[in-house]
Amino acid sequence: MLKVRSIHTYYGAVHVLKAASIHVGPGEVVAVIGANGAGKTTLLKSIAGTLFPASGRIDFEGTEVAGLFPEHRLGLGLALCPEGRRLFGGLSVEKNLLLGAFHRKDKDGVRRDLQALRERFPILDSFWNRPARNLSGGEQQMVALARALMSRPRLLLLDEPSLGLSPLLAKDILKTIRDLNREDGLSVLLVEQNARAALRIAHRGYVLETGRVILEGSGSELLAHEEVQRAYLGKA
Ligand code: ATP
Repeated sequence: MLKVRSIHTYYGAVHVLKAASIHVGPGEVVAVIGANGAGKTTLLKSIAGTLFPASGRIDFEGTEVAGLFPEHRLGLGLALCPEGRRLFGGLSVEKNLLLGAFHRKDKDGVRRDLQALRERFPILDSFWNRPARNLSGGEQQMVALARALMSRPRLLLLDEPSLGLSPLLAKDILKTIRDLNREDGLSVLLVEQNARAALRIAHRGYVLETGRVILEGSGSELLAHEEVQRAYLGKA
């Protein structure tokens, strides 16, 4: 579905991604873990198109997307749910969700999806007409997730969905992601600081270190890997 091959991404002269390669198959949840500054966000932005890699290839369902603008990639089904949620605080929950569908022309479909999400996530319904800024961190994360779903993604790129949430809410949001994958077949590329929780719901995972993929394996293989345990799971 997604094949990222040997991409190099820079911020000016700063070389962040160094020949990073990953792939995501249809129906998979794939986690990318790594320390602060390893380049996880840069990887997602390079895939979503808010950053352009200097070289390398990104094939999404047969289309080379590395040179395409983000709106075009969104239209193909690549949606980014960014770190820090980036909601429009003054707009209602409903309006924030509608912004996720700004590029869609099927107005009836948009209305139906809006209603379906309202029913699926009761927390959204309780705050439907309220400004997003009045919601708690966990509630805002649900809105951000639902907004990304409004674009009808084929692959959801999720950047740190549990950041800043209590352990209970973090668990909730990861469970929601797992359910979306199991019940709706949504494919997910998940970047998380919370390596243990991410690897538990992931079919496969990658460890990124200073812009390079240093390990790859199934979720359970990585959870059992000595180096992963020592560096990312806090085990001696
Ligand atoms: P975190 O978990 O802290 O978000 P990350 O793995 O997502 O870390 P990135 O945000 O991708 O890491 O950052 C990778 C590197 O790029 C870091 O060294 C960071 O300082 C640098 N970097 C990020 N954004 C910029 C920018 N706008 N200009 C220059 N350097 C940047």
